[in-house]
Amino acid sequence: MLVEVKTGKRVEVLDITDRVRDAVRKAGNKDGIAVVYTLHTTTAIAINEAEPGLMDDIVSTLSKLIPAGAGYKHDRVDDNADAHIRAVVLGNSVVVPVENGELMLGTWQRILFIELDGPRTRRVLVKVV
Ligand code: ZN
Repeated sequence: MLVEVKTGKRVEVLDITDRVRDAVRKAGNKDGIAVVYTLHTTTAIAINEAEPGLMDDIVSTLSKLIPAGAGYKHDRVDDNADAHIRAVVLGNSVVVPVENGELMLGTWQRILFIELDGPRTRRVLVKVV
């Protein structure tokens, strides 16, 4: 099942847990694993806390670790090498166990969609197997 995510900034962290949970319920599988997979090369998916300060910290730390415009070869093509490199470092999917049709997440665990070259409309595939 595809989940559409509309992003509003060049780089931002969005909590998509509720959307993924709905997709898993609709899928109908009671037990298995949910693969949450972004269909883009300049986005990432992670599991972590959705505390607003932390979400801002992730954005600011990414820009320090992998700064924009640092002489990348890919910037000659479409000027977004920082977004691709950040996506590679973060990873483009997570796997979450499903039991009784529900995502098995810890108290503070949320599924975070990380936009790295927005704003755009993005697609996330949620596949329960
Ligand atoms: Zn590019």
